[in-house]
Amino acid sequence: MVVKKIPQRMCTGCMEMKIKKELIRVVKNKEDEVSIDFTGKKPGRGAYICKDIACLEKAIKTRRLSKNLETTISDEIYEKLKDEILNEK
Ligand SMILES: [Zn+2]
Repeated sequence: MVVKKIPQRMCTGCMEMKIKKELIRVVKNKEDEVSIDFTGKKPGRGAYICKDIACLEKAIKTRRLSKNLETTISDEIYEKLKDEILNEK
C-alpha cells in the first residue's frame, strides 16, 4: 500500500507544522517582490501562516515573516493578509 504523505509546512506565527492547504503562502520572487500566493504555485521563496489572526499578529510582532523571506514586508502585505484571514471566517 502506498502511503500518501500530506505536505506540511511550518506556520510563521505559532511555529507549528500544519497541512499546507490550511495555510496562506507568502512568496518573494526573484525581483524581491512580496506577494500573497493563493494558488500555492508561485515561484520564489515562500513562508506560510495559519489562517488565524493571532498567528499573523505574532508573525508581525516577531518579524519572523520578513526574516523568513529575508526581506522587509510592507504594511500593505500585512493588511492583505489580515483581510484574507478575516474574510475566511
Ligand atoms: Zn499558526
